[in-house]
Formats: sequence, structure tokens, C-alpha cells
Amino acid sequence: MPTLYDAHCHVASTDFIPRRFMADVARNVQRRLQARGTASSPDRVLAGYAAQHQDHQADRLVREMDLAGVDRAVLMVPDFGLRMECPLTLEEMARRHHEIRSRHPGRFWVFIGADPRRGPEGVRAFERMVEAYRLDGLKLYPPCGYSPSDDGLYPYYEVCAARSLPVFVHTGPTAGSLDYAPAHPLLIDRAARDFPSVNFVLGHAGLTHVDIAGYLAAHRPNVYLDIGGFASTPTIPDWRAHLNRLFRLGLNHKVVFGTDWPLSRLAGGLSRLVDEIVHGPTVFAGVPRRERELLLGGNLLTVLGARGGSGSDRL
Ligand SMILES: [Zn+2]
Repeated sequence: MPTLYDAHCHVASTDFIPRRFMADVARNVQRRLQARGTASSPDRVLAGYAAQHQDHQADRLVREMDLAGVDRAVLMVPDFGLRMECPLTLEEMARRHHEIRSRHPGRFWVFIGADPRRGPEGVRAFERMVEAYRLDGLKLYPPCGYSPSDDGLYPYYEVCAARSLPVFVHTGPTAGSLDYAPAHPLLIDRAARDFPSVNFVLGHAGLTHVDIAGYLAAHRPNVYLDIGGFASTPTIPDWRAHLNRLFRLGLNHKVVFGTDWPLSRLAGGLSRLVDEIVHGPTVFAGVPRRERELLLGGNLLTVLGARGGSGSDRL
């Protein structure tokens, strides 16, 4: 089993994922169930969904990782605060994730969210949290209503450049009450050009917008693609064949393995997912061994730079 890092995870907790976000996801799920004739009410779907989000200290996630052979994962903490009511402030979430990391040493990196509309105080808070909790990167969620090349993000990117922090940018579809237009991957282009020393990872871009994201990754040395969410994207009928096509594009030095747990939860959990990728007949068909190792972990270490190695929680 090669070293396996999951570049895109969330703690499955109602403390960190706003109820509104879950209600949006539940509504889509309910529509699909309804079309199949297995409808239950939106409230019941939401209640079931919320019940799956009670892993407040990531104990269950770590158990899943152990079973699946995932050595380490990046925990993403998006900032939904200006668009949705959140149970905790960004600073409280940063502290809680720091505690989670201390509880499970050597298992997690943490990327904290930001929103350019928080102004200079937001930038100061970001630096403060990075410093206090030794955070590993910036997580952006443009569907909250801004472009990832927004001028208001440049001070954040300067901090990232100075501290060698990568930036993870959500792209593609999301919760129904958020904006889809700012989630287009091409919007990262200006920022990626202006901050060539900062690594940008396009979340889900190995699944959605593959052509555009692929040419960005091929031609911008600092742009990478994440495949998070592959098992739960309804417009991709066969994620195994989809990933295999992606892994034959000549981009295997620029793609990181990510699950978007718990959103990509399948029956059988993380281990079934990982098993299908690593040992299944389709995903890695024709992909050389060296490139598999890059996809499963090596590329994430490149993205993380010096933070990759032994892990910042041990420094
Ligand atoms: Zn995610």
C-alpha cells in the first residue's frame, strides 16, 4: 500500500457545517429520491444528514482513515459566515480544529477559510490564526459571493507567499443557496499569475470543468487539481472511468487525491472508496506506478512544501 494522503476532508460535525448548507444538500438528495419513487420529506432527509454529522472531534474520521489506510488528511474549514448562519466563529473553528489535531497527532493538516469582504481585520485574523495554531493553508469558498482573484484577497495571498502557505479554492457546483458563477475555475487565473510562488489547488476541478481546469494545471506551474467529491457527483455516472480518463491526460504530476469526506460518503465508508481506487481494475488502469504514488500522496507534499514532511503539528 503506497503512502496515502487525503487532500480534501471536513470534520463531519454540525458545529462546522452550517445547517443551511446541509439543508441545501438535503433538498437535492430529496429531489433525486423523489424521482425514484423513494421520497421522504426534506426535513427527514435533513435530519438523517445532520445525524451523520456528529463526529465533533474527528474520532470516527480517524477510525475510517485507519481502516482505509489513509495516513493523513487535510481538514478544510470554509468561511461561510457572511452568507449563512454558523454555530461558531472562524476563530472558534480554528481553535477547535487545533484541538482535533492535538487529539490525533500526525494525522491532519488544517486549512482555514477567509472572505475578502472581511477587510483588513480579516487578514489580521488570518495571520493570527495561522501563527497561533500553526495552520497549513488558506481555504476559499468563492460561491459565497466573490472571485478568487478579488483584489481583497491579495493581502491574504501576500501572507501565503511570505509563509509558503498553499491556497485551496472550491470550484464547481455547491449548495443551492450560494452563487455558482464565482465557482468557475478560470477565475483563479489572475491570482495564479500574480502570485507564482503560491500553490493553488482547484477543489473538485478534476471532476467538474475538467477541460478548463486541466489546461490551467498544464500551463500554470502553480495550479493543481483536486478530485474530491468523485463518488457523489450525480452528473458523473461512472466515477472510476472518469478518474481513469483524467489520469491519462498527462497531468498526473498536478492532481491530488481528495475525497471531500463526509460529502462523498458511500456505503462501506472510506475504505471501500480507497480500495476501489488503489486495488480496483479501472481507476489506475494503465497508470504507471510512479504516477500513482504522486496522485495518492506525493503531489500533496509538493503543494504543502516544507509543511508536508513530518507535519506542522509535530514541529
Ligand atoms: Zn469540501
